[in-house]
Amino acid sequence: MNQRRCTICGELVVNASIKGEKHRFHAMLIRALNDIVVPTCNGCKRTYLDKNTATIVDNHLRQIYTAELQRRATALITGLMTLTTQWKLEWLLGLSSGYLSKIKNGKKSPSATLVAALALISIDPQKRMSELEDFWGVGSLDDRYKNMRRTWEEEEGDRNG
Ligand SMILES: [Zn+2]
Repeated sequence: MNQRRCTICGELVVNASIKGEKHRFHAMLIRALNDIVVPTCNGCKRTYLDKNTATIVDNHLRQIYTAELQRRATALITGLMTLTTQWKLEWLLGLSSGYLSKIKNGKKSPSATLVAALALISIDPQKRMSELEDFWGVGSLDDRYKNMRRTWEEEEGDRNG
């Protein structure tokens, strides 16, 4: 008999699908959606992954994880845009101009770090953004933005006048 036994508990190792199981993948617990068969101990549930299967599982979870980060980032940005300007948010997060649009349009993939920062800001946006203004020592960005607008409008007025 060549039935494999678990090196930990001695129970039989059988082929089992990971579909429906939650796996830690970086910041999240990801529920596997595909029927990927993995040798698994009948007793302690230890898995015996070969390199090829490990890559298949990793790619599957990464795909779900990436899509979930994108979904959450888009929802958080959309919510915050009702309360502030993209310009201010990008400044406070040290992002290049237009970066948040690229995420919303699916042209850039957000990092878990950025999604975490957006999530924390979203809990109390005015307070968190004010704290970040203090932390970076940049003063009121809303005032700066108003002054910039005034300058643009004056320039526009000069051109038209
Ligand atoms: Zn076992």
